[in-house]
Amino acid sequence: MSTTAALAAPSADGRFEVMTIERRELRPDDVAIDIAYAGICHSDIHTVREEWGGASFPLVPGHEIAGVVSAVGPEVTRCAVGDRVGVGCMVGSCGECAQCRDGHENFCERKTVWTYGDEDVDGTMTQGGYAQQVVVGERFVLRVPDSIGLDAAAPLLCAGITVYTPLKRWGARAGAQVAVVGMGGLGHMAVKIAAAMGAEVTVLSQGLSKEVDGRRFGASDYRATSDPATFEDLRGRFDLVLSTVSADLDLAAHLSLVKPFGAFVSVGLPPDPQQLPFFALVDGDKVLAGSNIGGIALTQEMLDFCAEHGIAAEIETISADQVDEAYDRVVKSDVRYRFVIDTATIRTP
Ligand code: NAP
Ligand code: ZN
Repeated sequence: MSTTAALAAPSADGRFEVMTIERRELRPDDVAIDIAYAGICHSDIHTVREEWGGASFPLVPGHEIAGVVSAVGPEVTRCAVGDRVGVGCMVGSCGECAQCRDGHENFCERKTVWTYGDEDVDGTMTQGGYAQQVVVGERFVLRVPDSIGLDAAAPLLCAGITVYTPLKRWGARAGAQVAVVGMGGLGHMAVKIAAAMGAEVTVLSQGLSKEVDGRRFGASDYRATSDPATFEDLRGRFDLVLSTVSADLDLAAHLSLVKPFGAFVSVGLPPDPQQLPFFALVDGDKVLAGSNIGGIALTQEMLDFCAEHGIAAEIETISADQVDEAYDRVVKSDVRYRFVIDTATIRTP
């Protein structure tokens, strides 16, 4: 057993506190990582604030982890001390079921172990990446390409893969019209990745304040959802509308933007259930789908794709004492475009 300094939420409404947590003894296939940066995902906020249901406190969030390998167990073959690596939303799965064999560890038939706030197979609770060290089985460790800084790479481990998966599956390619709804952490990566895949990208944001950035990330059009004319002008325009919105949205209005046979896919996970507008779905044989992160092999593919296309996250680096304020700013859509914690600033008092 080793210990590490970590930043923990003591309760759903308490301020983050530095505490010492334990990391397990290295198993034969384990990798110990000195974390350099941890991204702040809106899912961390939904979880800590118990918007998705009860959480287990104290809770160390963080599933966008980038760092350097500090030790490996004797059976580790795929990484070595000194390697630049990342860890995303999962740290365990059975590895044997049909889903795991097909590369969908995120849908393991026995149990996907999530990076924080989840009961591991040994009965302990997982604690995430707002910390200085983590120990993870090597199957869940990704290689960070040399051309991407560890700070800008961290958000790719959740935001990057979460949008890469549906963009690839639902046909973001040359000739396709793709709308990205919400330009926050996931949304800005979706714009960059969809544009790199060759699609023509439109951003649908609440307002126009981030238009210059959206166009810089690769969008050819940028519209405000607060303007009713947007929904008139863009009616039936898109092969794919990808929503990254963390709050309720007008599903019927957004479905009206989809072409016949096209898809509306949500990666956003607003806490409240929504009514299904069946007429808007049936008129045009439209697909309504969800998408949950992506498997490990696909995550490596995404990292390599980003390196090849010279893209990574746009970040604001913060220190440990700024995390509470950062959470409030994310909720207000006031982040450009991902907060990343410099974990060297997490020091026990
Ligand atoms: P984020 O940085 O806060 O971005 C969400 C964006 O949604 C905001 O930037 C804003 O974009 C828009 N938005 C926020 N409130 C809105 C409102 N009331 N009405 C309309 N638009 C609003 O969050 P994120 O980290 O990208 O995460 C987005 C969502 O995806 C969260 O629900 C998160 O839990 C979920 N998520 C899902 C997965 C998965 O595997 N499916 C993985 C990670 C995260 P504009 O300012 O441009 O309007
Ligand atoms: Zn996330």
